[in-house]
Amino acid sequence: MQLSTKILAGMSAGIIVGLLFNALGGSDPDESVLITWIVENIFDVIGKIFVVSLKLLVVPLVFFSLVCGSASMGEDIKMGQVAIKTILLYLLTTAIAVSIALLVANIVDPGVGINTGTIDSFEVKTAPSVKEVLIGIFPDNPFRAMVDGNMLQIIVFAILVGVAILKTGDPGKTVLRGCVLINEVIMKMVFMLINLAPYGVFCLLAKLFTREGFSAIVNLAIYFSTIVFVLSFHAAVIYSAILYIFTGLNPLKLFKNMRPAMLFAFSTSSSNATIPVTLTTARNRLGADNSIASFTIPLGATVNMDGTAIMQGIATVFIAQAYGLELSMIQYVSVVATATLASIGTAGVPGVGLITLAMVLQQVGLPVEGIGLIIGVDRLLDMLRTVVNISGDGMVTTVVASSEKRLDRAVFNSSGD
Ligand code: ASP
Repeated sequence: MQLSTKILAGMSAGIIVGLLFNALGGSDPDESVLITWIVENIFDVIGKIFVVSLKLLVVPLVFFSLVCGSASMGEDIKMGQVAIKTILLYLLTTAIAVSIALLVANIVDPGVGINTGTIDSFEVKTAPSVKEVLIGIFPDNPFRAMVDGNMLQIIVFAILVGVAILKTGDPGKTVLRGCVLINEVIMKMVFMLINLAPYGVFCLLAKLFTREGFSAIVNLAIYFSTIVFVLSFHAAVIYSAILYIFTGLNPLKLFKNMRPAMLFAFSTSSSNATIPVTLTTARNRLGADNSIASFTIPLGATVNMDGTAIMQGIATVFIAQAYGLELSMIQYVSVVATATLASIGTAGVPGVGLITLAMVLQQVGLPVEGIGLIIGVDRLLDMLRTVVNISGDGMVTTVVASSEKRLDRAVFNSSGD
């Protein structure tokens, strides 16, 4: 069996077992002691070990592959040019995503008639200001950046080291050889871990569905399906169109090639933890050169969250409608701008979208407690929007690599089981 088929089988089995356990009362720890024991002591333990093992590889992998990537850029490609193109595409796709979300939400009206009387509590965290985000990109201590897993700071430091290696002549070449070798060892670790993925994703999904089930979706069916529709539309239409316009490549291949990373994103709900798989996928299946992918993928996992922005656009309209409040045109524009900027500087980890949603709501003066209305289905939506988040990273990586003549089209067209 192909590995991605095995992962898919693990996911499906996990969802089925989880739903079965849920039906047997697994969502309430007091109701079924045996199920709770299995979920807490087997599924949760294996699932958590799997995710921390993925996260373990993120910092060393991003650092060494980006040092190698930026050092090997040489004279023919300019780092600044790649960075500007990538950031512009990330911002543009996010702005399109939230605009479509607002438009569709205003047609569907998901929040009309929702009862705001019974809301779960939601603790608001303060979002960083744009100024803080900007200053925070620059590291004062590279080790602290790595310990904290601060992706933007690690990216800046790795590029600096790579560029310095390039400018140091022969000693630089020796250091680069060392980095290339270390990078290969880390890649080997990634492959070792990916081979265990079917078991890891089984446990993650079995636990999640035992706890969640589908009951929460019933009450918020329109909200849930509006988001699922816009997520699918954005990936299938907007990504396909941008890819085709800029590269002439077949968009179906993009999604086929991205499949391993999409499966990981769905199971972990974390663009960050998925970086090792997205990066490997971008290089080995999309055909993007490491000099591009080692920059665009970790950057995208941190700043490019189209799926999250879609949820935020629809959630904003939903909450406004539930509270019977009208949004003006200026407020809509402000939602697009804030949702786009809010994704920068917030790490791609499970549930972060709700924290940035609080920032968007505050910006347009909507009640932040409204988040309590949608929190029940957010865990399931998080899985789906993370898939869109990393698919966008893969699409932009392909476009940028192609524009820099660093895309192996034969690999793009041939891979994809
Ligand atoms: N879980 C998402 C990600 O990692 C972020 C979010 O929407 O909460 O990309």
